[in-house]
Amino acid sequence: MTRTALIGTHWGDEGKGSCVVRVIKNSPEKVSAVYRWQGGRNTGHEVFMDGNRYDFHLTPSGLCVPGTYNIDGSGMFLDAARLVEEIKSLREKGLEITPDNLGIDARAHITFDFHRELDGFDEEKREAGKKIGSTKSGITPTAVSKMARVGMRFVEFLNEAHFEDFISDMRRNANKVMGVDVSAKEMFERYRESRDFLRGFLIDEVAYMTAHKHDNIVFEGAQATMLDVDFGTYPFISASNASRKGLPFNADRAYGIVKAYTTRVGEGPFPTRYEAEKESEVREKGSEFGVTTGRARGCGRLDAVVLRYSIMVNELDGLFITKGDILNGEEKLKIGVAYHVDGKRFETLEGVLHDRSVLERVQVEYEEIPGWDKMTSSEGSLTPNAQAYVKRIEELVGCPVVMVSYGKDVNDCRFFDNPMKK
Ligand code: GDP
Repeated sequence: MTRTALIGTHWGDEGKGSCVVRVIKNSPEKVSAVYRWQGGRNTGHEVFMDGNRYDFHLTPSGLCVPGTYNIDGSGMFLDAARLVEEIKSLREKGLEITPDNLGIDARAHITFDFHRELDGFDEEKREAGKKIGSTKSGITPTAVSKMARVGMRFVEFLNEAHFEDFISDMRRNANKVMGVDVSAKEMFERYRESRDFLRGFLIDEVAYMTAHKHDNIVFEGAQATMLDVDFGTYPFISASNASRKGLPFNADRAYGIVKAYTTRVGEGPFPTRYEAEKESEVREKGSEFGVTTGRARGCGRLDAVVLRYSIMVNELDGLFITKGDILNGEEKLKIGVAYHVDGKRFETLEGVLHDRSVLERVQVEYEEIPGWDKMTSSEGSLTPNAQAYVKRIEELVGCPVVMVSYGKDVNDCRFFDNPMKK
């Protein structure tokens, strides 16, 4: 009877999808459901299991564990046509996906083609240096529609009798608010297949959560804390609350997923970024290219300043460290332990550091510790230097590490505690 949230601590791509599956597979008690609370087709989890690779963008990663129910929550932005494609392609890989293991909340908002067009247009209009690094997948315009009260929810998307009315309203308002025009009739036809395909997946998440209040549930984060619209590095963020603050249901516990180094996709300040040569070496080794966009991710050293902040924002109970194996063979490792700016030293993000012009100027104070050849010994335990790295992170940020992973496969991991404990 535990609800546990798994949240990215930095700028995403920490391996949250793999960690969701790792938790389900290693939990002593059955995990009944995985609930995804935000994001849209701009996100992507890649999961390697039993020799297969599964890509999830618009569906929760729990779909690859038979017997687990999965929910696309109210805060998600659903590109209906893409969602249909994703379900079909996961089925081709052998996953069974039916209304018995996937539900879509009535309140999730629909991303239409015109949202995507608008996204690209807005990003292109921004001057060099002021670009956000948008994936141009229509997420921000969908969020704008939602907040401007001209959006369309999944349940209304399914309503054939009123679809054209809704679209007409949306069109009139979208035209007024965002300057685009769409034909209601054309939209009705264009989305017919998706409507028919998705109809059976409609649920009400509030009813589900109430009926399953005694179940073990994992809340699956997408993107990460520093991309949260309120708590991240604004304006270089995504258009939703990707931290624990966005969760519409209480979590009993929350764990931060931290990569052993740091990456950042898109634009914006990145204080612990490697020098160019080192960055491309780590990028290649860690395959740091976006699952959704193929974009090269910026790579840098572990940033404990951001990690401390993320622990506070999400009130974390513990950390999962992923991808330590990518640092195999490093003689020495550096961890960013503090920022210096205007004669002050900061151990976490606070006050003036939320001003982008200040954050861009910080100097990082590093601590150096020995690296390792291999993260794990032949018996599967952490090698002494890998152990020392984990221990040093715990000391630096004051939060226990409960899982370490050292390979792509979901089985390449060790738990030191049970994240589903009561
Ligand atoms: P997410 O969006 O946070 O789920 O992360 P992504 O799917 O974008 O990227 C994480 C990548 O790292 C995926 O390809 C995972 O299979 C992979 N991964 C997860 N844990 C580990 C690990 O411990 N070591 C290695 N080498 N890869 C990992």
